[in-house]
Amino acid sequence: MGRVRAYVGLGANLGDAASTLAAGIHALAVLPGVRLRGVSRLYATKPVGIVEQPDFRNAVVALDVPAGPDSATGAVSLLVALKQIERAFGRKDREHWGPRELDLDLLIFGRARLSLDRPLAGLSLDPGKADRLLVVPHIEAADRLFVLAPLSDLVPGLVPPGWGETVAATRRRREAVEGPKAVRPIAGWTGEGWAASQM
Ligand code: ADP
Ligand code: MG
Repeated sequence: MGRVRAYVGLGANLGDAASTLAAGIHALAVLPGVRLRGVSRLYATKPVGIVEQPDFRNAVVALDVPAGPDSATGAVSLLVALKQIERAFGRKDREHWGPRELDLDLLIFGRARLSLDRPLAGLSLDPGKADRLLVVPHIEAADRLFVLAPLSDLVPGLVPPGWGETVAATRRRREAVEGPKAVRPIAGWTGEGWAASQM
């Protein structure tokens, strides 16, 4: 079975968020059939939505993952794995946009454009927001500087399916809206963890 290049966004703002993201990256890297292909810089970001909460730490990783028999099955399998890791890190169901231990979002799955509203056979996921089980590319990625900045570290020239412009161009547009101080790189990935000297 082939592999697909996927991009996953990580976010956390409770406890030692930088360490949580590092541990989350290691957990992704050891998923069956998955290879870690790149890690963005670590960003300190201002909360969006509910602003009265601690700053976030955000990053994006590039993964090669099993393609599955078709892109819907492959992408949902990855989503199931992301949700399992979130749960292992103690994520509880709290309010949307509220504080969280670890949030993992499937940003891009190869060239796939998917909009699935219910689980596929054999791949059950707690219903939660079952009205939008999986939308790929992630529906809000293009509107969030905390996704665009780290994604742009990895693939500035990529035009994600349906976007009509590169990640870097989208990022510049979004930076004009949110202001340059909304997201701030604070460390780089050493292969083991984050280091301020690696930027
Ligand atoms: P958010 O990340 O928007 O704050 P949650 O992580 O709490 O929200 O919940 C996301 C829900 O959205 C999940 O239950 C999942 O089924 C759904 N979802 C739809 N598309 C995606 C995607 N591309 N990546 C992750 N979750 C998604
Ligand atoms: Mg999420």
